[in-house]
Amino acid sequence: MQTSLDAPSSEEENDSQVYDVIIVGAGAAGVGVAISLAHVGIESFLLVDRDTVGSSFSSWPKETRFITPSFPSNSIGMLDLNSIAIGISPAFSMKIEHPTGSEYASHLQDLVDYFELPIRENTDVKEIQKHDEIFHLETENSILKAKNVIWAAGEFQYPRLTGFDGSELCRHTATVSDYTDLPGDDFIIIGGYESGIDAAYHLARTNRKVRVFDKNSPWGEGSSDPSISLATFTFERMRDTSFESNVELYNDNPISSVRLINDVYEVKTEDGKKFRSKEQPLLASGFIGSHKFVSHLFDERDDGFPLLSEQDESTIIPGMYLCGPSVRHDNHDFCFIYKYRQRFGIVAQSIASSLGIETDEFVEAYRGWGMYLDDLSCCGQECLTC
Ligand SMILES: Cc1cc2nc3c(=O)[nH]c(=O)nc-3n(C[C@H](O)[C@H](O)[C@H](O)COP(=O)(O)OP(=O)(O)OC[C@H]3O[C@@H](n4cnc5c(N)ncnc54)[C@H](O)[C@@H]3O)c2cc1C
Repeated sequence: MQTSLDAPSSEEENDSQVYDVIIVGAGAAGVGVAISLAHVGIESFLLVDRDTVGSSFSSWPKETRFITPSFPSNSIGMLDLNSIAIGISPAFSMKIEHPTGSEYASHLQDLVDYFELPIRENTDVKEIQKHDEIFHLETENSILKAKNVIWAAGEFQYPRLTGFDGSELCRHTATVSDYTDLPGDDFIIIGGYESGIDAAYHLARTNRKVRVFDKNSPWGEGSSDPSISLATFTFERMRDTSFESNVELYNDNPISSVRLINDVYEVKTEDGKKFRSKEQPLLASGFIGSHKFVSHLFDERDDGFPLLSEQDESTIIPGMYLCGPSVRHDNHDFCFIYKYRQRFGIVAQSIASSLGIETDEFVEAYRGWGMYLDDLSCCGQECLTC
């Protein structure tokens, strides 16, 4: 099914203009919600990115691939898991089941071109304030203005670098461009969820020894939710002979400190065991997320994530929305594309209604494709992932 709704034409760059919506971040969330705005009939919007379209994906280590498979299931009404727009299938257009980050970034660029989304790249938003009902977004060269803002700046560019003494001595996996060329033959990885196991797999494939530490036991979890347990693609790779012969897994082993003594890194667990390596330990401890950057515009939940209305709008600053993996409602976590895309329609509909745009046809189309999830009451956490 294709929507019959037209994409907007590109906006002239004009700093005095007050847009109906500015979206910060041209990753999967920003591009996806921009397409939803176009579909619902909003014409005055702008997508801005500090870098280029899909730049977080382009920065993934070159060997890293999507764990969620793409499949051209759209023809039977089931949206490709990695799709961010109805009628679109990365599997169909790219003929790749598990894209690399750079392949997916190209896909996002194709969508920006196809939908003619108005975009300003190399525009870093440094501050957002709301005065007299208008948001002011301060960038290096200008102040952009909008009635509504959608924050979609993601997590990847805001890694978690703390957590124990000496964590600054480690190297976060988000800064590795290539595991194959990483010098060294004996690695310690702190964090054993997807990024940690991915790093271990690529290092083991090139015959390096790896020890992976995690405070929990991600590889032992029984949940069917990939937010909790490892993905099937990951379990498959853990059965590779190079992984089995080169990787040691230490579950339930929180790290208390890392020290550098005579050019050797000493990693100490909370129960006092010490492990040594000449190579800089890799930190795969996740991301603090960009929502911390806009914490003044949202009330905060007990777990530190922004508190959102049923429309994913700030409960304290009307017109300020959040899209992407930091969206949380009760115990529901929208950290994967196939989860958070379900809220694009909600945000687009909410803003369109506030602008007096009729949304019935849009809501029906989006609901039909699982892109308008407005009723969470019937779902347990795992229901969102099925
Ligand atoms: C290694 C790895 C593997 C993953 N695998 C999968 C997977 O298989 N399936 C899946 O669904 N998810 C996966 N994820 C998660 C997925 O990458 C994220 O859900 C997704 O990138 C989030 O998209 P986003 O648009 O929110 O953020 P991003 O892709 O990070 O996009 C945010 C954009 O905002 C821009 N930006 C940031 N700050 C500013 C600012 N101040 N001003 C202007 N622009 C700004 C950035 O340049 C960036 O382009 C993976 C993540 C990682 C790290």
